[in-house]
Amino acid sequence: MTDDGAFRVITACTTETVRAAIAAQQTEGLVAARFADLLTGAVLVRETMSPGLRVQALLKGASGSGRFVADSYPDGATRGLVSLPEGREDVVFGEGALLQMMRTLPNGALHSGIVEVPEAGGISGALMQYMHDSEQIFSVISVGALVEGGEVKAAGGFIVQLLPELKDELLMVMTERLRDFTSMEPLLRASMTPEGLLAELLYGMPYTTLEERPLRFECQCSAVRVVGSLGTLPATELAELVAAGEMLHIACDYCGKSYEVQPETLRGLLEKS
Ligand SMILES: [Zn+2]
Repeated sequence: MTDDGAFRVITACTTETVRAAIAAQQTEGLVAARFADLLTGAVLVRETMSPGLRVQALLKGASGSGRFVADSYPDGATRGLVSLPEGREDVVFGEGALLQMMRTLPNGALHSGIVEVPEAGGISGALMQYMHDSEQIFSVISVGALVEGGEVKAAGGFIVQLLPELKDELLMVMTERLRDFTSMEPLLRASMTPEGLLAELLYGMPYTTLEERPLRFECQCSAVRVVGSLGTLPATELAELVAAGEMLHIACDYCGKSYEVQPETLRGLLEKS
């Protein structure tokens, strides 16, 4: 928070999280860079709006192109999913591309908002629109990744939240300054730590760091959840699996970890269904 109380700023370095998520999804190029942006966006929205709640970001590309999921938990663990339709190797922004942000409230209900992903502004632009439309918060957001030679050198982003009692003159100074940082690239080149990003963004403005929280890539899958998801299959399909009498191998879509489900477990599920 700047000491004049005018701006709340959140910076995130997601390099390790993004690298691990990209490796788990075996994706590369532009798709990987856009996936990185969504992961960072989910982390930033969670930290800004609801650090204690799970936040999921769903991106659906235009014209039947790829879909991404970013899934960020209160303890900083974040994972993601890339799915490209057969024969497509891209995710297209612009008309028809949608970003849906969701968070699970403590009572289990889902708070959700959808915005279009603009061709020019990309995921940063869509996140700003989402904060404005669904959260009534005027903010400047930038997410990005520094990719060199096919490798993610750094990934991160920031949200500058403009507090309501802001004087016009302060707003102008900040807007002018943030114009230099519409792309994350110069910021990530200048610093790859959250403190460094903060110092660059707020250069010359006194501020106080209020909180720091760790981030990491981690999947929430478990044998119990895998079996639970099988329980949603129709009884006829379960019966077929039981009749086959073989051990089932199921890989987690998010992290690739493989689980084995014994025929007896399947039989137990069928009896319950
Ligand atoms: Zn997993």
